[in-house]
Amino acid sequence: MSTAIFWFRQDLRLQDNPALYAACHAGHDILPIYILDEENCDWPMGGASKVWLHHSLTHLNQKLGGRLQCFSGDAKAILKTLCNTHDIKHIYWNRCYEPWRIKRDSAIKTLCTEQNIACYSDNASLLWEPWQVSKQDGTAYKVFTPYYKKGCLYAEAPRKPLPAPKHLNLADLSPKNALTIDALSLCPTRSWGEEIITDWKIGEDHAHAKLSDFMDGGLTNYKDGRNFPNKANVSRLSPHLHFGEISPNQAWYAAAQASAPEQDVTCFKSELGWREFSYYLLYHFPELPHKNFQDKFDAFPWHDDQEYLSAWQKGQTGYPIIDAAMRELYQTGYMHNRPRMIVGSFLVKNLLYPWQAGEKWFWDCLFDADLASNSASWQWVAGSGADAAPYFRIFNPITQSEKFDPDGQYIKKYVPELKHVPASLIHKPWDMTISEQRMYNAVIGKDYPAPIIDVKETRERALAAYSSIKQVQD
Ligand SMILES: Cc1cc2nc3c(=O)[nH]c(=O)nc-3n(C[C@H](O)[C@H](O)[C@H](O)COP(=O)(O)OP(=O)(O)OC[C@H]3O[C@@H](n4cnc5c(N)ncnc54)[C@H](O)[C@@H]3O)c2cc1C
Repeated sequence: MSTAIFWFRQDLRLQDNPALYAACHAGHDILPIYILDEENCDWPMGGASKVWLHHSLTHLNQKLGGRLQCFSGDAKAILKTLCNTHDIKHIYWNRCYEPWRIKRDSAIKTLCTEQNIACYSDNASLLWEPWQVSKQDGTAYKVFTPYYKKGCLYAEAPRKPLPAPKHLNLADLSPKNALTIDALSLCPTRSWGEEIITDWKIGEDHAHAKLSDFMDGGLTNYKDGRNFPNKANVSRLSPHLHFGEISPNQAWYAAAQASAPEQDVTCFKSELGWREFSYYLLYHFPELPHKNFQDKFDAFPWHDDQEYLSAWQKGQTGYPIIDAAMRELYQTGYMHNRPRMIVGSFLVKNLLYPWQAGEKWFWDCLFDADLASNSASWQWVAGSGADAAPYFRIFNPITQSEKFDPDGQYIKKYVPELKHVPASLIHKPWDMTISEQRMYNAVIGKDYPAPIIDVKETRERALAAYSSIKQVQD
């Protein structure tokens, strides 16, 4: 029986893992490996992602009977040494789509060809390959609806999920330079790493349990409920999807078979479609994480020299919905989609910071930090992206808060300073009289910050800044 390396990457699961399935089906003994490759990476993993990865690898390792072999360093050199030392002639992996990974994997494929090693790669993380979908003229879509409706939904249906391989025979090999998961040093020494993880159960089995609970519960009323951060109408599957503990195919077909109303199923699938669109954009426009998709934004007069970034990051802006969301992010490694849009708009429009400042903070704090979705979404919020929200659509944090957190429960969860303030006053606590502030233990400027900026004035300033680039363009 020949041995094949199975290289786990963004597919930390056994079920619906096409390349693993193919390796086992071909009758190989499997050497399962994970490589932390910070040498080729030009976009190093953020702090929260590393914590998640640690726990996800631990779960996977348990499922593999403790036989996952971990390495750290240049993937190409590690694979070469492994193949040479153990006379291995087959490597299997599932594809990744970040530009640095595409570049590195191409170099590994070339090496394998030179060394007479067979390389097999498959798709485990997207419903449609980015190169499969294009406009009639052969160019890439830049607008979501035609991409999704004409490009994706008219194309072949997504692959049906595969079971876990029936026979997973692990090779009896213990490579000399393999490391323990702990030795990858993914968890920070400070307690933050332990605290943010407490709300989560990580790994393939837990991802399935969560999917199944969501299909039986939150999916019904998803279309409307998904806008309310305090409702249980979103799946919170994003980190599990990012690390590949569950596949989009499993989520897609679970929704298709669920007994929820059609409109909710359609809406949930289209959100998976937005994830696809983000990867599609990243594949076709690899500069998306750092460069404005619309060139005219290169001339935008950002004000990134102010002192407000830290107040935004720490949830100390004096706007309760913004502060609740930013604290949710830091305390739980997650932020609901609606507040992501609200805090994003506040940063790039009211505070006039370049979207990259928000992208960077999210990258470090989110468990689901994903190069494609994070950069596409930040460019969407800023108005500089493909099919983006128009720049002049500036979210008002007060009206958003009144509409989507009407009883203030989300705010009270993360901003305990305001826990005694009634719902009618919580969205604009600075409007309380001094006696109300005292009565509710929320004295503005003492117990809770005064607003750092005026949203009306800064809205006007943002629109003026936008006019200046419209003129450049026109
Ligand atoms: C500024 C900003 C930054 C973001 N950064 C990320 C990121 O780094 N990683 C990330 O996965 N998502 C990101 N998103 C998209 C979205 O907010 C999250 O995917 C979603 O909130 C995850 O929660 P959920 O799993 O409960 O979503 P659900 O509503 O349950 O949706 C199911 C799945 O669909 C996908 N999805 C949903 N909405 C979007 C969207 N707008 N764009 C892309 N995929 C989507 C996700 O994979 C999600 O898990 C960002 C959005 C904004 C506005």
